[in-house]
Amino acid sequence: MSVSEAAAFVVRNVRLFDGEQIIDRADVVVEGERITGVTPHSGTPHHDAERYGVERYDADRYEVVDGTGATLLPGLIDSHTHPTGNALALAILFGVTTEMDLFTVPERLGNQRAVAAERNDVADIRSASTGATVLGGHPSMLIGLSFREQFPVIDGPEDAAQFVRDRVAEGADFIKLLIDDGTAMGHPSPTLSEETARVVVAEAHAHGLLAVAHATSVRNALAAVRAGVDGLVHVFMDQPPGEDVIHTIREAGVFVIPTLVTMGSMAGELTGQAVADDGRARPYIPDDWHQNLCSCWQLGSPSSLENAKLATRALHRAGVTIVAGTDAADVGVLGTAHGVSLHQELALLVDCGLTPTEALTAATSSAATSFGLLDRGRVTPGRQADLLMVHGDPTTDITASLSIRAVWRRGQRLHRAPASRPSATPSG
Ligand SMILES: [Zn+2]
Repeated sequence: MSVSEAAAFVVRNVRLFDGEQIIDRADVVVEGERITGVTPHSGTPHHDAERYGVERYDADRYEVVDGTGATLLPGLIDSHTHPTGNALALAILFGVTTEMDLFTVPERLGNQRAVAAERNDVADIRSASTGATVLGGHPSMLIGLSFREQFPVIDGPEDAAQFVRDRVAEGADFIKLLIDDGTAMGHPSPTLSEETARVVVAEAHAHGLLAVAHATSVRNALAAVRAGVDGLVHVFMDQPPGEDVIHTIREAGVFVIPTLVTMGSMAGELTGQAVADDGRARPYIPDDWHQNLCSCWQLGSPSSLENAKLATRALHRAGVTIVAGTDAADVGVLGTAHGVSLHQELALLVDCGLTPTEALTAATSSAATSFGLLDRGRVTPGRQADLLMVHGDPTTDITASLSIRAVWRRGQRLHRAPASRPSATPSG
């Protein structure tokens, strides 16, 4: 499929979640790669005609997609992944139209950017390239043998400027830091000092890039926030959250991507089994990913899924922006698979007190805003037509997010076929 094949169409009579708000019934017009109009039906309460633009359209000009009984949403954004191989093709089967790659090396990133720019049957990608960590520091123990060579690391503050320049030269869209002394896993691990982290963050900001941090303990999360990061890409889970850490994160305006599916798997308490064997999902999951999804770690750590959920609940209640992400990866991150895991994450966020609408916001508009992707994440005129349509109403029952009826990327409808096994790679 190529970009030029995108057509003009209207999704009629559909319930709309536009990334922030719900309209009970609307028509949504797409021309080429863009959403060009959102027309709430008469009698449907809506208060902001300017927000939606086109109020009338010439129906004859458009192919009609019947949205009766369905809900239309922005394509989902998974804000913490590590795509390789067929990952982006797998993700879009589940309505994930953008993935944030939060650690890679050029040999693993491969041509995924070029493929995603060219084709609409894979999710789009933004990447941190290689994250800033010390020699032997996280995630070396997870990925060491899978890379041909040692990836770039930094020793101290004096290395930060060059490290960030090198990532910028590789095309990094944001900078990732790893601040993990092993507390949450119960194994001491060398890590960036707070001072080094502060300089990396300053260098990232000097290049106009966000800086986001891996931290899984309260102590490491506090160090990251003091170092000035914009986001935390896991929730901490080594202990129940105290008021001080919640307060500090809220005051700093830092967003948090809990990645509960992976935190639960790391704590040995959760797998993706339920979602893996859901009849709506199973046919689309290649066997190798199904196996990864149904596995979890047995690290014997002090961490727990309960701590992670308590922290997520407290952060949300305090008004911290929650962004949805999974940490889906084929290297070491057991319990995940691209695309489908985000639906499990949404349900876990609802378990933590987010309403279904708030959980969907975390995977759409909040993700787009947090990462500065202002061309997507909302169904409003002018935005890219990355869309997901599901049967039923996920704004009241989050599990409906997996009842997928259609997916579009840049206005082009995905031919959503069950996985061939082994599945096709997105390299063609
Ligand atoms: Zn990760």
